[in-house]
Amino acid sequence: MRLSIFSKLFLSHFAAIVLVSGSVGSYFYFSAIDNLMQALRSRLQNSAALISQGLDIADLDQIREAGDMATPVYRRYIESLRAFANANPDIAFIYVMRKEGERVSFVLDSDADQPAVAGEEYPHRIPAMLEGFVRPSVDKAITRDRWGYFLSGYSPLKSGVGQYLVGIDMYADKVQDKFEQIRLAGLLSLTFSLLLAAIFSSLLSRSFTRRIRNLSQRFTAVTPIDATAVPVVAGDELDQLSTSFDFMASQLAVNQQSLQHARDELEKRVDDRTVELVRANDSLLEEIAERRRVEQRLEAASRTDYLTGVLNRRAMTRRLEQLAGRPGLAGGDFCVILMDVDHFKQVNDCHGHDAGDQVLLRIVEEMRLGLRETDELARWGGEEFLLLLPQTTVGAAASLAERLCSQLAKATIDLAAQRLTVTGSFGVAQHRSGEDLDACLKRADEALYAAKAQGRNRVVTAQA
Ligand code: GH3
Ligand code: MG
Ligand code: MG
Repeated sequence: MRLSIFSKLFLSHFAAIVLVSGSVGSYFYFSAIDNLMQALRSRLQNSAALISQGLDIADLDQIREAGDMATPVYRRYIESLRAFANANPDIAFIYVMRKEGERVSFVLDSDADQPAVAGEEYPHRIPAMLEGFVRPSVDKAITRDRWGYFLSGYSPLKSGVGQYLVGIDMYADKVQDKFEQIRLAGLLSLTFSLLLAAIFSSLLSRSFTRRIRNLSQRFTAVTPIDATAVPVVAGDELDQLSTSFDFMASQLAVNQQSLQHARDELEKRVDDRTVELVRANDSLLEEIAERRRVEQRLEAASRTDYLTGVLNRRAMTRRLEQLAGRPGLAGGDFCVILMDVDHFKQVNDCHGHDAGDQVLLRIVEEMRLGLRETDELARWGGEEFLLLLPQTTVGAAASLAERLCSQLAKATIDLAAQRLTVTGSFGVAQHRSGEDLDACLKRADEALYAAKAQGRNRVVTAQA
């Protein structure tokens, strides 16, 4: 049978308290009874000894049969015994007995109602009484008969040891009552101590097991026990505590694992996300670079002429404005050459517009060959081109124009069907110090007009 910790503690405490209190109680109970009996015995013995002193063996020897009960000796002794009995209310009877061999018989009897007849044999063999013929003795225990409870004491006659004894029967009802009271008190105190023991043991066990249960509940609070997952424990509270602890430990381990799993998962997601972000960033950078390239292409396209690929008029104007507007720019720092293809309308008319385009491309090709690194070429109008020559004297510009003019005139242009040659008229102008850009361009234009007017395929330099 498995007992709970509560039951074990309760029973052990209960047993300990009952054992101690029972031992102490029994000791007091028995010693109380013993003391009482001792007091009674010594009283009996003393009384018997006292009475025996007043008796004479010579007188007693004469009382042998019923007839002797009328003698004065008998009457005197009987009177004195009755007087003694009357003076001690707890004494019931006083008698004198004689022993001859094995025969024990009455001599005197204080009983007034039914006195034993002198010489009448006493048939019983009571050990204490037989001992009383030799030395003082008392019954081992209280005896009960139809008259009530009695305790008897015996004492031999001094001069007739072994022959005569004085016996006294003492009323023991009150003693018996006292015994009953002591017994009752003993029973009551035993019941009381059992009750107290039960209460104390219960309180003690409860206070101990409550802590165990609290601990169990705290474990359960940390990890609520799933009743279906935990087997029912057959043991005591400590076994249940162990089970709760084991369950908590296993749950914590599981939680630890799932936490670890979640952390790994999170780290993986962070890594994935980082990779995604890096990819997105890369593609964004790529996109930005692509846009820059597009912008650059657009910007370049916005600056160049769609057909010939040289600067367009807008880009060239900006470039000229930069140069002309630069603060502290000395006059004559740059020259411009304006060139217009001669009779280009005829090319178009005779060979078609596409052929005209091809001629324009070929002219640009030729002019680029004659240019320096720092020179810039732009398509200024339909078949009109502008050359910007930074840090160039007007003389150098004029001779460059001359070279270009003759080079163009010599150049052959191969079309699909035939070979052409074209010429161009050149107007050269040098920027004057503080001069407005438009004024400078106007002078170049006028020089070009003059070249046309003078018969084309030539260079005219504007007046400085
Ligand atoms: P000149 O300048 O010698 O006085 O005679 P011209 O024939 O060149 O006279 P004009 O300047 O009037 O004619 C220019 C022609 O150039 C008119 C136009 O059709 C042609 N032209 C302008 N731009 C282009 C172009 O991009 N492609 C082609 N094929 N022709 C163009
Ligand atoms: Mg023209
Ligand atoms: Mg022309």
